[in-house]
Amino acid sequence: MALFSGDGTGVLARKLKKYGAQIIGGIHITMPDSIADEKVLKRSFKQNKKLISRADEKIKKAVEKIKNNKPPQEGIGLFCQLAGLLGQRLYFYHKTKEYSDKLKIDSEKCIGCGKCVKLCPMKNLELKNKTLISKNKCTLCYRCINDCPKQALTLLGKQVISQHKIDKYL
Ligand code: SF4
Ligand code: SF4
Repeated sequence: MALFSGDGTGVLARKLKKYGAQIIGGIHITMPDSIADEKVLKRSFKQNKKLISRADEKIKKAVEKIKNNKPPQEGIGLFCQLAGLLGQRLYFYHKTKEYSDKLKIDSEKCIGCGKCVKLCPMKNLELKNKTLISKNKCTLCYRCINDCPKQALTLLGKQVISQHKIDKYL
């Protein structure tokens, strides 16, 4: 992600351990924004392409380090765990609660295609007689917002500026 991800690597490492993985290291890589309805989070296509190529380089270097038995250790130490907890999880926990009923549907733009209904992992969206309804169980994953063909959905911002998908950068 393009924002501070706290100990994203550590969270994943702890989850993988539960399933028997042996964790030898970790890296943090900056990726393009997936949230597109706030100006502050918007990067141009060119800037995002640069991010992807930097990520590519970082991964190549990490592979070399692993081959030399010195895997990078980013994001998996106790310090990162604390930073993630204090700087991200505790802060965003309440934000998520607050915004969970804030999905905005522009009924003028919505064509009732149902794409967002199928995509929502929370079953938060429902079409009733071609009218889209949000049931206040949204966890801000942004899938529906990034995939709506009419850019009819927003959450934190007032409008969708651009929809970011990885295939744009490949
Ligand atoms: S994907 Fe967009 S256009 Fe389609 S039903 Fe959902 S909000 Fe409406
Ligand atoms: S942002 Fe995610 S959780 Fe919220 S309504 Fe859209 S798809 Fe569902």
